[in-house]
Amino acid sequence: CGIVGYIGHRDAYPIIIKGLQRLEYRGYDSAGVVLFDGENMRLAKTKGKVEDLKNKAESTMPTNGKLGLGHTRWATHGVPNDINSHPHFSNSGDLAIIHNGIIENYESIKKALVKRGYTFESDTDTEVLVNLIEEVKKKEGVKLGKAVQIALNQVVGAYAIAVFDKNKPDEIVVAKLGSPLAIGIGENEYFIASDASPFIEFTNNAVYLEDEEMAIVRIGKEIKMRKIKDDAIA
Ligand code: GLU
Repeated sequence: CGIVGYIGHRDAYPIIIKGLQRLEYRGYDSAGVVLFDGENMRLAKTKGKVEDLKNKAESTMPTNGKLGLGHTRWATHGVPNDINSHPHFSNSGDLAIIHNGIIENYESIKKALVKRGYTFESDTDTEVLVNLIEEVKKKEGVKLGKAVQIALNQVVGAYAIAVFDKNKPDEIVVAKLGSPLAIGIGENEYFIASDASPFIEFTNNAVYLEDEEMAIVRIGKEIKMRKIKDDAIA
């Protein structure tokens, strides 16, 4: 399984597809990509190979957009199929997430969210996490980074995640516990990936998140690294 993300001045799509291909060695059963062009969210996901994803994406949607996330899934919760593939959206459609790992207490969180009116398309633990982030963001009236932090403090499990809000398309929030996550730093661009292979041709400046670390990656800003357990986060 693997994750790739891009935010910057280039088209994200080719970087993501090539990056996912370089991460194929990690094993997976499905793949997906979300692209945001400033106006439209575009999503393609499929059971099968990255090559199948490429064919699906290119035959069903425009592939422009300078912000994007890609994922190869190794199913843990929910069978390998198109719907359970990542990325997943929150109920509002504003937040998109990719996740490698397992949210062990997803069932109790899901129950609480269903009580609050949330609905779920997939059987994944990941779709629960993105809606928990959305619920925290709304309820606490906090920014995405803080919402991710609060949500992760309620979660038991392992993860490498990347999430963005289409209303704030200059930012990707990432976090890690257990699964690997690297950030490649370019000029006015950032790359996210499970290892450096997806961005090695663009930059050799990289930071690797430690367990229980998160980062707010924003265009034109230094990366803000935080401990997930700290209270102080902007
Ligand atoms: N637990 C998540 C799922 O089953 C992510 C699996 C993975 O690591 O790819 O969808």
